[in-house]
Amino acid sequence: MPLEGPRHLLVQARSEPSPLYESYGHGTHEDIETFTGNVPLDEPALGLPEDLAHALHSWSRSRPAGGFPSRPDLRRHVKQGLVAARRLAAHLGPSWAVRYWDERHRTSKWVCWGCERLHWERDSHGTPPHPVNLTVEGEFQFGPLRSDGFGDFFPDDPSAALNLSDSLVTALYGWADEINTTLNLAIRDRVEGKYDDTWQRLFHEGRDLARQLAHELGPSRTVTYKGLAHGGLAAMTYVAWRGDRELPG
Ligand SMILES: [Zn+2]
Repeated sequence: MPLEGPRHLLVQARSEPSPLYESYGHGTHEDIETFTGNVPLDEPALGLPEDLAHALHSWSRSRPAGGFPSRPDLRRHVKQGLVAARRLAAHLGPSWAVRYWDERHRTSKWVCWGCERLHWERDSHGTPPHPVNLTVEGEFQFGPLRSDGFGDFFPDDPSAALNLSDSLVTALYGWADEINTTLNLAIRDRVEGKYDDTWQRLFHEGRDLARQLAHELGPSRTVTYKGLAHGGLAAMTYVAWRGDRELPG
């Protein structure tokens, strides 16, 4: 979770080794004219994978110092830069705010870390733009995922921009369905303890699904498992992960 506001970066090809800039002296982030401080691609805080650093480097260097004389070359260059800027924003996650300078349209838009869109406003999805801290919880007729400001939702909800594997999406749906089915059966039968084993299994499955979710979402988001609202299996102590690391309770 970011401790302060996000760190702001501008992606712009100025023919230098790195196309990343930040506001000089950490002044205002509104005015991109103040983004004069070059951020080297090997800056540890970025943790860039080598191929992404290479793509950003060669993109910046491939811009002629005086700009592009031909429109098609400029268009191609703008497209290449956008691909790299999107990869950068997705890699850095929600604790960074990335803007992309489109040299053709002379605009600087926000590159979203969660979806493919460019935004004129940083929070044009509403705040927060996509869920950052998620909870997995099994409850009759609720989506298996929760996040502040989003309520409960399903794993393939496009506004959540989770980009999960098909197998995990299917498994989370199946888990939520079986919770509904089991509660309906328990209400129908009204026999004490008849579904204890099923609740127990669903409780453990939920924990495995939450851990898998944390793994797929990576270290820029957290996942907390709260157990089941039924069968007396709300987790006594919540378990939480950031990427593959279990967080202290
Ligand atoms: Zn988005």
